[in-house]
Amino acid sequence: MFYLCPVCGFERLPHVPANYNICPCCGTEFGLDDTTRSYEDLRNDWIMRGTPWFSRHLLPRIGWNPFLQMTLADLEYHPGNNESQESNQQEEIDLGMDARFERNELSFAASVD
Ligand SMILES: [Zn+2]
Repeated sequence: MFYLCPVCGFERLPHVPANYNICPCCGTEFGLDDTTRSYEDLRNDWIMRGTPWFSRHLLPRIGWNPFLQMTLADLEYHPGNNESQESNQQEEIDLGMDARFERNELSFAASVD
């Protein structure tokens, strides 16, 4: 049985999100990190850091997309800031996400080597 990470939406947590278990995806240590900060706060912090994959033992599957993962888990996220995402701001926000994806792919390739 797998569990869903309430921070990043990773759907294959091997242990319940509590008791000092750590999400291999976002690195949240449950029972520690989430005692002083909300899931949403931790999620936005993870996004601001470029959604790095945490675990060195369990790697993301090919084509892993942190934003698709959060969307599928029905988690809200606010890249950058909490301003309303008007249509005229959408292009700028998309560019920011693309840059993060590229960084993730680079770090993924490096960890495979
Ligand atoms: Zn997580």
